[in-house]
Amino acid sequence: MDNNRVIIVGASHASAQLCASLRQEGWAGEVLLIGDEPTLPYHRPPLSKTYLAGTSNLDELLIRKPDFYDKQQVAFRQARVTSVERGARTVTLSNGETLGYDKLALCLGARPRRLSLPGADLAGVHYLRDAADIEAIRDSLATTSHAVIIGAGYIGLETAASLRKLGISVSVLEAADRVLQRVTAPEVSAFYDRVHREEGVEIRVGVGVNALEGKGHVSGVRLEDGDSVATELVIIGVGVVPNVELAQEAGLTVDNGIVIDAYGRTSDPEIFAAGDCANYYDARYEGRLRLESVPSAVEQAKSVAAAICGRERQISALPWFWSDQYDLKLQIAGLNTGYDEIVLRGDRSTGRDFACFYLGKGRLIAADCVNRPQEFMFSKRAIAQGLAPNRDLLADPGTALKSLLEASTTSAG
Ligand SMILES: Cc1cc2nc3c(=O)[nH]c(=O)nc-3n(C[C@H](O)[C@H](O)[C@H](O)COP(=O)(O)OP(=O)(O)OC[C@H]3O[C@@H](n4cnc5c(N)ncnc54)[C@H](O)[C@@H]3O)c2cc1C
Repeated sequence: MDNNRVIIVGASHASAQLCASLRQEGWAGEVLLIGDEPTLPYHRPPLSKTYLAGTSNLDELLIRKPDFYDKQQVAFRQARVTSVERGARTVTLSNGETLGYDKLALCLGARPRRLSLPGADLAGVHYLRDAADIEAIRDSLATTSHAVIIGAGYIGLETAASLRKLGISVSVLEAADRVLQRVTAPEVSAFYDRVHREEGVEIRVGVGVNALEGKGHVSGVRLEDGDSVATELVIIGVGVVPNVELAQEAGLTVDNGIVIDAYGRTSDPEIFAAGDCANYYDARYEGRLRLESVPSAVEQAKSVAAAICGRERQISALPWFWSDQYDLKLQIAGLNTGYDEIVLRGDRSTGRDFACFYLGKGRLIAADCVNRPQEFMFSKRAIAQGLAPNRDLLADPGTALKSLLEASTTSAG
């Protein structure tokens, strides 16, 4: 093993992949993973699902078991990195210690956006990002009869589903006029709204929150319309902000994330970034993106590993995402930004499975597939190929997807 050292900051999805990919790419030097959470990288998506519901433990959530890191000769240190000195090529830890690097990878993730409301610091008010957040919520469940979730994005709705499973009554408060407004078509929002109501969740959209009330511990949420909702537990899920400060203070280019090129390189040739904290150039979309998803973190990490080893591997996989709520497995292929038409396949008004295809100038650009794995697989292929499927056939559940793929042309049909 040579003496070159890669330091990876953040024990994250991206860094778990990076540790594996670095060795696959032939990195023979030291690899030191520094993370401020007490554990090796773990799967974050189950936090709002099985971990909150109490059906999985943290060991089961580890992305790779400890012996993987031993075998790959990756050292792990629990510490917070407080600064990067680019000239000296060192990082400083919160205990004042400095460590030298030859290559540095920033896999810092994101943190929950905080609400600056009166009462936001009361006990019983929680955010959702790491295992410790969930453990604190779980500890309070025995004394909770009614929970309020602020924000009806994926994390808020997944949390509502998990709490319902535990028999807790739930209200979801959303300032926009529909659930999942930022990410889906109105038809998909209407589907999720219906299912959550059927499962006993109270959903209130178009409501602003004025304050969280209580003496020491939260006891209610005061709304802008003067109404208030009594509760012992408030969970806030209103989006995340990328962790960029370390990069910013080191003078790296930052613009809605740590700016990296199509290969994972920052504005410093010895420093790389991946995951929720990174804003990368996507050749497929011919523009900059900052995505918050596991597949995206993994894809970027593979390119960072190649770049650290002196090779160029473009970040190019088609983005995809998933969300599990109740018995609904939503799989999302592509990005729906800029769609001008949707096509629905299946009955979304009564059933529990359907697909919403997003078209842009006739071409399939994205799809939300609920309990429809075949439509998801089809969409990934069709989007990657830039196909323009016939709309009537696409909408008809009787049409075999394979034939649709074969019948599609690259001109709008
Ligand atoms: C509750 C929940 C549910 C989700 N569900 C899904 C889902 O269903 N599907 C999906 O694709 N995505 C989901 N996501 C998003 C997904 O988890 C993130 O996109 C993914 O974790 C991003 O990984 P990452 O590598 O960018 O960093 P992260 O996994 O966020 O990890 C970053 C790590 O870096 C650490 N760190 C930051 N700064 C420092 C520092 N200075 N020193 C040391 N350590 C530091 C952080 O503490 C953290 O441990 C979910 C997220 C949450 C919170």
